[in-house]
Amino acid sequence: MLSVSLPVALLIAFAVTQLANVVTTLYLHRTLSHRAMSLSAPLEFVMRTVLWLTIGIDRREWVAVHRKHHVFSDEPQDPHSPIQKGVWHVTFGNVLYYRREADKPETLATYARDLEPDRWERMVFSHGMVGVGLGIALLVVLFGPLTAAVIAVVHTVLYIFLSGCVNGLGHWFGRRAHDNKATNQRWLALLTCGEGMHNEHHEYPRSPYFGSSWWDLGGRLGRMFARFHLAVMHESTRYSRDNDPVPVGG
Ligand SMILES: [Zn+2]
Ligand SMILES: [Zn+2]
Repeated sequence: MLSVSLPVALLIAFAVTQLANVVTTLYLHRTLSHRAMSLSAPLEFVMRTVLWLTIGIDRREWVAVHRKHHVFSDEPQDPHSPIQKGVWHVTFGNVLYYRREADKPETLATYARDLEPDRWERMVFSHGMVGVGLGIALLVVLFGPLTAAVIAVVHTVLYIFLSGCVNGLGHWFGRRAHDNKATNQRWLALLTCGEGMHNEHHEYPRSPYFGSSWWDLGGRLGRMFARFHLAVMHESTRYSRDNDPVPVGG
């Protein structure tokens, strides 16, 4: 068992959150929700495993809620609009709005109908709590129960807070390079693997890049994976505005 100080435990929690953010932006968001990039089978499996162990989120739910957000951005049907529900409500209560929308069967049926559960989903990855439990057990084995608890709690709070910032602050204040309601916030982009470049993303939702600057760390990372033939960035969508960001098929 490794003995680490509190600052090191906090750094490890930050690293775990960043790992979860990489998977969120590259896999849940750019690959599944918008089909802006593709992952090789091995990399996709690694990302699904990381997702399962670090946040245990259901990929169909995330994709469905997010696609609905694009269709109804800042309109009354938007699952988490700060303009409709209040900026602090969404920033700090994002997880509750997310859960409320994800629990609606019609949302999944409409916005995630192209994501039928495969064998791995049914047997393993749909059991999110088992994954998170295993992730925590791994931390306990590595660092002992107290440090594991600190890492798990800080990671959970930070991940939820940063997601709330993207959905709340990212539709409230910041730079608007393009004429849409979302904003760019570089500090948030640095902490969320590029998700903070939200104005760029809403302008070109089918692009694998959130703008062309290096603040979109996820885009740079995706390009690096592509160089190693682990991903394909669908470059043709890079600078074309697509009015239908919801590739739900049918
Ligand atoms: Zn948005
Ligand atoms: Zn999106």
